[in-house]
Amino acid sequence: MPKIKLHWQILIAIAVAIIAGLITGHPDDTTLGARAMGVYDFLGTLFISALLMIIVPLIVSSIIIGIAGIAREGRLGALGGKTLGFYIGTGLVAVLVGLVAVNLSQPGFINGEPAGDRLALDRDADEVVEQVGEGGPGELVAIFHRMIPENVVDAAANNELLGLIFFALLFGYFMTRVKKENADTLYSFWDGIFEVMMKITHLVMLFAPLGVFGLVAKVAAETGVDAAGPLLVFAITVVVALAIHVLLVMPLMVRVITGYNPYRLFRAMGPALLTAFSTASSMATLPITMDCVRKNAKVSQKTSSFVLPLGATVNMNGTALYECVAAIFIAQAYGLELTFGVQFTIVVAALVTSIGVAGVPMASMVAIGIILTAVGLPLEALGLLFVFDRILDMLRTATNVYGDGVCSVIVAHLEGEKDLLPSGKMEKANI
Ligand code: ASP
Repeated sequence: MPKIKLHWQILIAIAVAIIAGLITGHPDDTTLGARAMGVYDFLGTLFISALLMIIVPLIVSSIIIGIAGIAREGRLGALGGKTLGFYIGTGLVAVLVGLVAVNLSQPGFINGEPAGDRLALDRDADEVVEQVGEGGPGELVAIFHRMIPENVVDAAANNELLGLIFFALLFGYFMTRVKKENADTLYSFWDGIFEVMMKITHLVMLFAPLGVFGLVAKVAAETGVDAAGPLLVFAITVVVALAIHVLLVMPLMVRVITGYNPYRLFRAMGPALLTAFSTASSMATLPITMDCVRKNAKVSQKTSSFVLPLGATVNMNGTALYECVAAIFIAQAYGLELTFGVQFTIVVAALVTSIGVAGVPMASMVAIGIILTAVGLPLEALGLLFVFDRILDMLRTATNVYGDGVCSVIVAHLEGEKDLLPSGKMEKANI
């Protein structure tokens, strides 16, 4: 039997799960519904636990070896400044595109009313709104507090990723400032951990169709067809906003800053974009991204080997945009008043967490969890996002990888490199 590609398996699992969930129905209505819910819950919970199990060692090892690699070569200075500045700038633009789109399309409302009931959100909207009121702007400050954990083991044990990332950045940097033999030993240690974690990630990915089936079937059974409307508007909002960012905003930046024809970059990065789309992991796509950017876009080895590995972890335009749209959608569905303070908190949190999460499939889910907690919204709504998550993950990952390519070309241009993005025939990328 020919092997079906993973993304097809997952898309099929989603379709089957929706049908299964609708057929077995709400767990309170029939015995079949209750029994089926037990199975869905079991599969979904196992899968989420497996993802969470990977996250801490994967993020820590990936950041430590990334930063150490750059610091070791003494290139954290000018190149680092330009690259990080550009990453944060484009990330912010992406979040704002998402913010405008979701405020215009209002997916969390049906006929002007918050869609919470239709989406079968358990928590009483008034209770949630009250709790958020208590949170106030202090929640934003709390994000910054969480960046510096009092106890790093505690932060790891509680999945407090921001604190861990901050610690990993420091650790990676200072790892290069110790005796050479210690620095080398530490580097191979963390590099080894990273390799092992990527292998475990691949193993967990094999079970993704079953896990996604459980999660989506649970949502379908609990919410029925009523959820489809708002969720579809939400998914379309994300797709349109991503398209505006990728097809208009970023090409405009390339044109204005470098003067090159921006659309040549799509051709140069074709294989990388398709791989990003099908793996939903910018980290897994990295070797192909590097190949395309060097061979086709003609960015030097020096620039691309700094900009791209860093970009695969911290530069996630698509993810930042998605997180913002998703968090506001959920806030709308709960009927939360979207004051400037709340929207500002979401924008900053989306930007910070998009920098913080690893380039692995479904990383946004963890980040959105952090954002919801920051604004005081309950995590139960996260389940809804799984309905369309796979397809949106594929699109946002392609956006993330494209953003890394855009940054390489712009930084290379600013570093004085010439003849980028040539118009001639492409060399074949090695996949
Ligand atoms: N899958 C995305 C990536 O690897 C991260 C995300 O979940 O948004 O770039």
